[in-house]
Amino acid sequence: MDFGIPTEYRQIKALTRKFVAEVLRPVEEEVEETADVSDELHARLVAESKRYGLWGAFAPESVGGGGLTTLVPQTLVREELGATSYVLRSYVDSGSAVRLESATEYQREKFFMPAFRGEVRSFAAMTEPNAGTDNGAMETTATRDGDNWVINGTKHFISGVDHAAWGIVYAVTDPERRKHGGISGFIVEKGTPGFTVGRRQVMMGHRGFNQYVLHFDNCVVPHANMLGQEGTGLRQFLTSITGARVKVAIEAVGSAQYAHDLAVNYVKVREVLGSVLAAKQGIQWMLVDSMMELQSARLITYQAAWKADQGEDFRVEASMAKAYATETAQRVIDRAIQVHGGLGYCEELPLARLFRDIRGARIYEGANEAQRYIISKAMFQ
Ligand SMILES: Cc1cc2nc3c(=O)[nH]c(=O)nc-3n(C[C@H](O)[C@H](O)[C@H](O)COP(=O)(O)OP(=O)(O)OC[C@H]3O[C@@H](n4cnc5c(N)ncnc54)[C@H](O)[C@@H]3O)c2cc1C
Repeated sequence: MDFGIPTEYRQIKALTRKFVAEVLRPVEEEVEETADVSDELHARLVAESKRYGLWGAFAPESVGGGGLTTLVPQTLVREELGATSYVLRSYVDSGSAVRLESATEYQREKFFMPAFRGEVRSFAAMTEPNAGTDNGAMETTATRDGDNWVINGTKHFISGVDHAAWGIVYAVTDPERRKHGGISGFIVEKGTPGFTVGRRQVMMGHRGFNQYVLHFDNCVVPHANMLGQEGTGLRQFLTSITGARVKVAIEAVGSAQYAHDLAVNYVKVREVLGSVLAAKQGIQWMLVDSMMELQSARLITYQAAWKADQGEDFRVEASMAKAYATETAQRVIDRAIQVHGGLGYCEELPLARLFRDIRGARIYEGANEAQRYIISKAMFQ
């Protein structure tokens, strides 16, 4: 058993930390205040990420990416990315959105490669008002009409639609089979007749990565836009979501570590009632608990990533990591706010933002109760 970081990954981890500190941190406040990453800012951050050699780090070398396609190195890098705003993490993470394995040559050239190059942005629409955790309850349908498919239905909570050029929309193509081979993914371009972007659903956090309602009213898309084989949409989605849970877990660790480091530094200098806070046992024990819990969350997450890279089934480990790390991170950030007193609650520090953002991570990519359901199924079956 080796708990060391392989030498070949130390450099990219350090470079990511530098990129976060030098390029992303200075724009965090602007993004938080405007709740937007404008096209100009997007272009600048893409260019900076390319200059640092980080853009597309997780995409295969065959498309010009950095080749970090396995979970352990991605996890090492993502731990650093966790320390910045959710939306800004995509300026290294973008390559992982390229679902090349399911794409045809046409889809790759027309849609995925421009997204991979940072020229356009995209979204993924699965969730509906009556189908969140239970994807099988999906009501959006796609009906074949010659060389086309006609989509009807409503999606909600869909992130990043405002600046996107296109997105993957999941719909029922076989009502008899539903989640057992009856759901397919389609690439839908913004501006396609019958597709309208509805109201923005303002969330507690995640500012700048905004959520929208989408309406499809006899929206016609060509068969060439179907992603993968008919009926494989949900399988594609679920395959990627297991890895995404490890991603959410380690980013939670990264964000909580950032908050914890701020707390440790602050209590060393803040004097209250004649001594620095760090001299008080009540404070020491709070922060020691944070340190122990953070290390447990980190190790459980790396083990899930390691298991994935061995080619083994890592669904239970990914669920444990996602639920445990996000809940740990919420507690750790909460303690960091507490030891800062009023300053911790004040928007002049990033702690309030970290607290808002981590709250969402307990819900998306499968609510933590759904993770417990997955774990209990494996435990009792
Ligand atoms: C910030 C944010 C961004 C998002 N972005 C996207 C996006 O880009 N694309 C997209 O398609 N979706 C997106 N979503 C939606 C997200 O995936 C769903 O909110 C999530 O899957 C939960 O679905 P739901 O909201 O319908 O909750 P429901 O399915 O109604 O669940 C409600 C609650 O029930 C509990 N629960 C669920 N399952 C179980 C169980 N087995 N046992 C016990 N309790 C259970 C949980 O506490 C859960 O929170 C986003 C959500 C948020 C908050």
